[in-house]
Amino acid sequence: MNLFGVLEQAAARFGDRGAVYLGTRQLHTWAQLRDRALRLAGSLSARHDTGARIAIASENRPEIIEVMFAVWAAGCVVVPINFKLHPREMAQILDDAGVSLVFASPKIAVGLDGAPVEVLGGAGYDVRLAHAPAVRANTDPGALAWLFYTSGTTGKSKGAMLSHRNLMAMTVAHLADFDAPDENHSLIHGAPMSHGSGLYIAPYVLRAARQVIPESAGFEPAEFLDLCDHHPGVSCFLAPTMVQRLVATGRPRPQNLTTVVYGGGPMYVDSLKKAMAAFGPIFVQLYGQGEAPMTITGLRRHDHLDASDAVLGSVGYARSGVEVAVLDDGGTPAGIDEVGEIVCRGDVVMSGYWNNPTATAATLVDGWLRTGDLGSFDGRGFLTLRDRSKDVVISGGSNIYPREVEEVLIEHPDVVEACVVGAPDDEWGEVVVAFIVGTATEDALDTHLLERIARFKRPKRYVHVDELPKNSYGKVLKRELRELVR
Ligand code: AMP
Repeated sequence: MNLFGVLEQAAARFGDRGAVYLGTRQLHTWAQLRDRALRLAGSLSARHDTGARIAIASENRPEIIEVMFAVWAAGCVVVPINFKLHPREMAQILDDAGVSLVFASPKIAVGLDGAPVEVLGGAGYDVRLAHAPAVRANTDPGALAWLFYTSGTTGKSKGAMLSHRNLMAMTVAHLADFDAPDENHSLIHGAPMSHGSGLYIAPYVLRAARQVIPESAGFEPAEFLDLCDHHPGVSCFLAPTMVQRLVATGRPRPQNLTTVVYGGGPMYVDSLKKAMAAFGPIFVQLYGQGEAPMTITGLRRHDHLDASDAVLGSVGYARSGVEVAVLDDGGTPAGIDEVGEIVCRGDVVMSGYWNNPTATAATLVDGWLRTGDLGSFDGRGFLTLRDRSKDVVISGGSNIYPREVEEVLIEHPDVVEACVVGAPDDEWGEVVVAFIVGTATEDALDTHLLERIARFKRPKRYVHVDELPKNSYGKVLKRELRELVR
């Protein structure tokens, strides 16, 4: 089994129908998409071994879909990279994954000095599209399909190894639990295709649903709603902040918009109620992580109807094919309403972190994936997240690990100590707040960070303090700082 097979099916049954759209314009039919992917695959097989890691670094573009299927048809591994990362961070990922080629948009390619780059839509790309079509697909379901890079708590990204089987388990669970698309449906890619939206390519291609890429290459609420008016039976994956931005337009639900899957970060009950009041019962919630892509628990559409705040504030119940448990400190299942670490197992769970046996051993324990999230089950199996033991700040759907920002802040000569926490924010879900001991000014810190890490990770607020609260071991009491910013 190889994920390329899902495109084969769509092309065999619906060859003449529209497959890929840029805005409202049809670019390729399913037969054409298959042909383009196979030609690209031929060009890859000619130069790269089976199992080679091929990266994609680009804002949302139509070529991403054909490149993904080409990589799989060539028996290689796709490494999608968040296009908002700093070139230094991208270089770190390329190096860690041992990437032998990067497909980059013209904008991103500029920053990738020295890397083996093929510019999407460029002259070299056209040469590849003229290559003889070829398949060299690895049919072992356990073969690697996707290296999913998460921000590491230690500042170094870790590559979650996702196999064809993992992504097929995600695909089947999506079609079983959440959505039933067919050739008269569309998936609009508003969220980044390097993450959630890209992971959903497989289930929607399997059902030959249109793949629509906004011309803005990202998420513009008005453009997104206009596209919903144009394309049939629209589904999408959106971060909670994107849902809020759609609602904030004040426009009614486009009739064709039928499914909005939200997740990847907390959706506050109040925001969810407003969204349902504005758009109706079209919402589905997922709780997942790169290590168990899009698939740990979820709330289906009908679970949202007449639901209590407790249910709306939960992350739902175990997805099809996934076993979920909450373990106490001793590693035994916690009782009802008792908080512990959320763990899960099933075919969707990664096989480990690329080239990182230490992190793998700490995360895959006794057959369970330790999510690093804390939560509790109620008597009916609804899971509620209580806190994140990994301290990650989720701002506008992007994960920001405080340690990563702290390490760079500390590098500044006028910073003595730094501590970063998340503060609740109506617009972004959470924002990064940095507590600073030292004389560095806000402007100086901003400049310092801009040269070193991605723009979206910069603190939105700096608080200068004389000292950081610490316990008797000298460990900073982050909880106190979090209370302070609340
Ligand atoms: P990532 O690996 O980048 O997808 O981030 C995964 C993390 O996002 C999880 O471990 C959770 O902490 C958080 N997360 C995912 N889904 C939800 C959700 N529905 N509600 C709240 N937090 C979530």
